[in-house]
Formats: sequence, structure tokens, C-alpha cells
Amino acid sequence: MKVNTYKVEPVTCPRCLMRMDGLTHIGPGMALPDPGDVTLCAYCEALLVYTDDGTVRLATEDEQVEMAMDSRVRTMRVLAAEIRANRASRQ
Ligand SMILES: [Zn+2]
Repeated sequence: MKVNTYKVEPVTCPRCLMRMDGLTHIGPGMALPDPGDVTLCAYCEALLVYTDDGTVRLATEDEQVEMAMDSRVRTMRVLAAEIRANRASRQ
């Protein structure tokens, strides 16, 4: 699986309030998020949706049900678990 991690304009997770300034893109190359794109908070695993103003909001329950079927969301959860494990091993 090809992933790229890079710095982006920071956003704040609306659930855990952690500042997120890095993005891991699943797929080739780099891609900046567009409104409607989905991301996962690597701290609390909240499913988030980019908004028109460049911030993120919590996914609605309907969106979460829909996303649960998407293999990319499962991949994001695996990556988030790896990121948390790496953080824990460095502390
Ligand atoms: Zn969070």
C-alpha cells in the first residue's frame, strides 16, 4: 500500500480538540483535501469531513454508516492505530 505523509494547514479535531497538521494520503502522490473529503483523526479515530472553509466537522451518523463500508476507511483505521502505536513507543 502506498501512503504519503506531509504537512498541511492545521485543523482542529472537533471531538478531541487535537491540532492536526499532518496528512497521510492513501494512494499515489500527494493530494490536498477538497470539501467533502473524509479523514480520520489519528488521536481519537473520529471520522471527519472537510468543509468548504477548510476546517473539518464530525461525520454524521448516516455518513459514518456509509463510510464503514468503504475499504479506504478501514485502511485509515489501520494507519491511525499504527501512528498511535509509534507515538506510544516513543514516549
Ligand atoms: Zn480527534
